[in-house]
Amino acid sequence: MKRFIICFFLFILCSCNRNEIYIKQNLSMDNDVYERITYPVTPYKELNRYIDELILSITNKYHDTFQSDTVYELQITFDYYEQETTLSFLGTSYFKSTNNEETNYYPFTYDYLNKTFKTLQDIGLNNNYDYYFNGTNIYYVENNELQVIPYTNEVSKTTSKVIALTFDDGPNRRITPKILDLLDEYNIKATFFLIGKQIDENQEIVERMLASGHQIGNHTFTHHNILKLSDDEILAELRKTDEALSKLNYTPTIFRPPYGSYTKECVSDISKTVITWDLDSRDWELLDANKVYKKVMSEVKNNDIILMHDMYESTYEAVKRLIPDLLEAGYEFVTVEELLEIRE
Ligand SMILES: [Zn+2]
Repeated sequence: MKRFIICFFLFILCSCNRNEIYIKQNLSMDNDVYERITYPVTPYKELNRYIDELILSITNKYHDTFQSDTVYELQITFDYYEQETTLSFLGTSYFKSTNNEETNYYPFTYDYLNKTFKTLQDIGLNNNYDYYFNGTNIYYVENNELQVIPYTNEVSKTTSKVIALTFDDGPNRRITPKILDLLDEYNIKATFFLIGKQIDENQEIVERMLASGHQIGNHTFTHHNILKLSDDEILAELRKTDEALSKLNYTPTIFRPPYGSYTKECVSDISKTVITWDLDSRDWELLDANKVYKKVMSEVKNNDIILMHDMYESTYEAVKRLIPDLLEAGYEFVTVEELLEIRE
């Protein structure tokens, strides 16, 4: 069994912080092992104990998994950020061995006035996310730097904030039922802008939308850009979709032009409210659950109509993370119809 040959400690005083946080470094290395742990020592015993235990659990994990004769590198660092009486930390572990390389994040906050901790586990998340929301701050790592978006839970909980999730281009046989499952799970209402020609073959999906209380909008019959159609063609596009829905005893009152492209003139004959969106998740372009999640979380605001498409697995995966986190952030989900009433 090999022993670490060099072990030394560094103490650095960070005089700029009124809480007198010291940075301590523990470096161990020999030919096969490089281990560097840089961590803060704070004036708060409870917090220091928490940090020590976290470091121990991380190092134990790797020491248990890899025998000491394995070549490896382990680095643990802590970024921190202070906001009023709360210190927010993002612990990062980087591990690299001959056949493994991984980075894990351990965000947590400590309120030194109330002596309370909040961790990912407290809000039901695990470390597989590279974007974190812990009720106090939203954290993410970009360009190897910790980004913190402060978030005050108390304010949002007492202020009612509403948003409308909208899904375009369905019904989709594969993805729409999964999204409906999610919405049911949280008892949330959304709005679906359907392409008329897909309705007949997916009637049971549309019936399910209606039974769950979701709103349905007209998104034309063939998803053509209506700017390229004549007035009669536009009316026919809308009528055919309305006819497909009338078989299910539903008449949509809202219309979303494909690509959001329309002029006042070309919709002047349409007896429906034209709805576009406030926040485009760009899900059709990003095709990446994490990026979609990040885009929505960082741009969402009260009263937003959010555009998504129930035709991508990545959208489903993003929505799966967005719903609980947006609820946690104090948002209430409403249909477009309900949102329009609130806006008035
Ligand atoms: Zn569309």
